[in-house]
Amino acid sequence: MPCPKCGSTNLIKIEDKSTILTYVAHTPVYAKKYKCLDCGYEWRPKEEEKT
Ligand SMILES: [Zn+2]
Repeated sequence: MPCPKCGSTNLIKIEDKSTILTYVAHTPVYAKKYKCLDCGYEWRPKEEEKT
């Protein structure tokens, strides 16, 4: 998915440490978000990618 702000596909997937989904063995599992390396915009995907 391209950046919704600038349309770049130069993206990385990072952990959104402000959003904890659950805990596994006392370790927090963070939500994922994308960051555009061109404009710096960060956003959460509507749903997690299926693996
Ligand atoms: Zn962008």
